[in-house]
Amino acid sequence: MAITYEFIKECKQTGARLGKVHTPHGSFDTPVFMPVGTLATVKTMSPEEIKELGANIILSNTYHLWLRPGEDIIEEAGGLHKFMNWDGSILTDSGGFQVFSLSDMREITEEGVHFRHHLSGEKLFLSPEKATNIQNSLGSDIMMAFDECPPYPAEHEYMKKSVERTSRWAERCLQAHTRPNDQGLFGIVQGGEFEDLRKQSAKDLISLDFPGYAIGGLSVGEPKDVMNRVLDFTAPLLPKNKPRYLMGVGSPDSLIDGAIRGIDMFDCVLPTRIARNGTCMTSIGRLVVRNAKYARDYRPIDEHCDCYTCKNYTRAYIRHLVKANETFGFRLTTYHNLYFLVKLMGQVREAIKNDCLGDFREEFFEQYGFNKPNAKNF
Ligand SMILES: [Zn+2]
Repeated sequence: MAITYEFIKECKQTGARLGKVHTPHGSFDTPVFMPVGTLATVKTMSPEEIKELGANIILSNTYHLWLRPGEDIIEEAGGLHKFMNWDGSILTDSGGFQVFSLSDMREITEEGVHFRHHLSGEKLFLSPEKATNIQNSLGSDIMMAFDECPPYPAEHEYMKKSVERTSRWAERCLQAHTRPNDQGLFGIVQGGEFEDLRKQSAKDLISLDFPGYAIGGLSVGEPKDVMNRVLDFTAPLLPKNKPRYLMGVGSPDSLIDGAIRGIDMFDCVLPTRIARNGTCMTSIGRLVVRNAKYARDYRPIDEHCDCYTCKNYTRAYIRHLVKANETFGFRLTTYHNLYFLVKLMGQVREAIKNDCLGDFREEFFEQYGFNKPNAKNF
């Protein structure tokens, strides 16, 4: 098997899992946050910097790489790792989420999805087989099954049909998968906020024996308490000896709350996207460095951070760069935000080891300001 999960221990206080995922390109400790490199690059960062800040796995988007430069070019280069000079692990999504979120002209059939290119309007078609073949060409360590991700909220009746189709598609992805020895394909549990459908979806997918499972269809606009409730009844449905991945989640509070509910892997564009907007995550809450009040502030972004950015540069300087649209400013904020989340997950793992993730959550939420009324939770 290409992907294996090594369970180390459970936090006695919360039930969170400490583990390790082994892939053909090395191992990573879980719970883990995976930086997103949509177009085979984590925007503004070099792969060497990503490694230096402590990330061992990144995510790339199948939909984007299929359209540009095309998976054949990447395959010819020797695969995505060689193409982008990243020797750590890579997870690719299936393209399903982008088809459903970026394109408004689409038609879903049993065979697959017809839709239009989100920029050019060109007619395109993606199916379970096609999404699997593209990921086989990219050569990612972890591939995702092609699924339907209905918007929130959706009717139970529609969601049931969708879940059943997603299960049939998952089976077709497994059949189309040509490299099971060096790429692990994960199934995606759907079902929206409905407990019976999550159960059905998990049961269908577990019967297909994937090496790992994702929980999809969350972080699509639902309130946080809905997400936590769905995780409360969905995570326990999944096998204990396989990794569990919560897709599209990356705010500090949701990472901690997800880990507490037994999630091992997370990804999100949030830290990199807000960085390019001049917004930083810090140990005492979010800091919008482009604000005027930082014009003469010669302290680092986060006085408790020991990242490259915080060791060397001031709020005043970074504010100036970001205001002037200088690339270096975006590099500095991106570096800090990714470092912040990678370090946070290290703290989460340490707390699980010491059976005190519940206490850690309390302290972190208090310091970060998540307990305040009207707290801006990203
Ligand atoms: Zn920093």
